[in-house]
Amino acid sequence: MDERTRLIRSATRRGGPRRAVNPPIERATTLLNERASDLRDSSLGPVYGIEGLGVHRALEDALKELEGATHVFLLPTGLAAVTVAAQAVLRPGDQALVTDAAYGPTRRFFERELKRWQVETAFYPAAGEASDILGRIQPATKLLHIESPGSVTFDMVDVPALASGAKTAGVVTLMDNTWAAGVLFKPLAHGVDLSVQALSKYVGGHSDVFLGSVATNDARLARRVANLIEDAGWYVSPDDCWLALRGLRTLHVRLTQHFENARKVAEWLEGQPEVAEVLWPGLGSSPHHALWSRDYVGACGLMGVVLKPGAPGRAEAALDALELFGLGYSWGGFESLATFEEPQLGRRLHQRPLPGPLLRLHVGLEAAGDLIADLRRGLDVYGGDGGHG
Ligand SMILES: *Cc1c(COP(=O)(O)O)cnc(C)c1O
Repeated sequence: MDERTRLIRSATRRGGPRRAVNPPIERATTLLNERASDLRDSSLGPVYGIEGLGVHRALEDALKELEGATHVFLLPTGLAAVTVAAQAVLRPGDQALVTDAAYGPTRRFFERELKRWQVETAFYPAAGEASDILGRIQPATKLLHIESPGSVTFDMVDVPALASGAKTAGVVTLMDNTWAAGVLFKPLAHGVDLSVQALSKYVGGHSDVFLGSVATNDARLARRVANLIEDAGWYVSPDDCWLALRGLRTLHVRLTQHFENARKVAEWLEGQPEVAEVLWPGLGSSPHHALWSRDYVGACGLMGVVLKPGAPGRAEAALDALELFGLGYSWGGFESLATFEEPQLGRRLHQRPLPGPLLRLHVGLEAAGDLIADLRRGLDVYGGDGGHG
């Protein structure tokens, strides 16, 4: 059956004479038992609410369908999903190879927290050739972190080549697949060991829930992730699972519309005199277009826009002129958003210089024509009163 069917079918499975379509939200720390001998009997279901109840299992099952995974774990944020997956793999003395285009807080976790645990991190170029990246593997390297397209600059790498090379070298691959939302690219089917995403973005889809997931088909890695979750005491709220499950049912139709809108906006932006470059692999002019066409079934609404050089403060003035694009972090909800991303590039070790300011757009579900008119308003302000340098 098609994935679009499978993601909905699990809601209508028959069980009992009559029931609600969606699972009930059960809030519980304590689970009461009939008799003392049942207290420790795990065959009766979870012993303690921290293991999660029906709605947790329903979301995990739906995500198994999406990821093509035998094991799925839920974490309270996307960031926690990345950090738990990495921690489950790494030990003191190990090295991690991490993309230079890692999501900012992921980078901070490796640089600050894992360093305290004697894990060394080396950053590889975000648009590097697979052979160059694999050539950086050392005896101590135990984890290869992938984000493709990477945060902020949307650089891509050859994931299947990296996954198979890493496997040969005995290195575990962890891919942050948030941009593809589990739909547009399938990390596990392309040989990646741990597929992670921030469900806070497209799966939730409405800018109202934090949640993350770790998916794998490797029973040994699954046990390590499960142990860490249990040992560290991670838990997610049933209300949040319920929201993510609701979002998941319409994920495909929303992404189709984000893709269509983003294509219109990206193609229009590319032709504007104030724009130097549009960073979105769905564009035929993107240096990553061939890789994207080979492995992806679509693109999401998140893209970078590099402006031509302008006078100081003009990029912020352009953002201030926007009326439909909200100014704020996160993305993947129904609404369009814009941010000014250039300051983040300062942390990078391998970043090519960009000709002008870098904006990030999330193209939402509004009508593309209205979004384009709004962006024209912003670019008029950017280019106005002598902005072109
Ligand atoms: C937003 C994001 C995360 C973190 O998700 P949160 O739920 O906000 O913690 C991780 N990775 C990527 C690529 C993201 O864009």
